[in-house]
Amino acid sequence: MTCSKCGITNDPGTTYCITCGCKLEETVEAIQPEVLDYRQTYQPAYQQPVPGKGMAITSLIMGIVGLVIIFFGLPAGITGLILGIISKKKLNNADAPTGLALGGIITSIAAILFGGIFTIAMMVAIILPIMMNYA
Ligand SMILES: [Zn+2]
Repeated sequence: MTCSKCGITNDPGTTYCITCGCKLEETVEAIQPEVLDYRQTYQPAYQQPVPGKGMAITSLIMGIVGLVIIFFGLPAGITGLILGIISKKKLNNADAPTGLALGGIITSIAAILFGGIFTIAMMVAIILPIMMNYA
């Protein structure tokens, strides 16, 4: 083991340094707990869930569902837009990336637009023949 004072490498199992005479085991024991403490305090920070992230994913799914299944465009798009705005605020407060929430907002707005056009087209297609019959 290497001496922390003079840097000389001593034989394994030696308690005192051959050159300067300082205790070898004590210096090793003094450093190790600090390294363990550092790991224990910093590891849970990575595993903490980001608030609003799940909501941002739901918003994105809602937007995509609204775009793919145009019949659900309006209800899915409105739900996705609300969730997207709330999650963006939460992610901003947590200093987390807001890309997912922004994607959810954009796809939801697109779903509302397409869903809206689809709904109007459907209404026109249903109402127009009825009105033609009455005319
Ligand atoms: Zn030494």
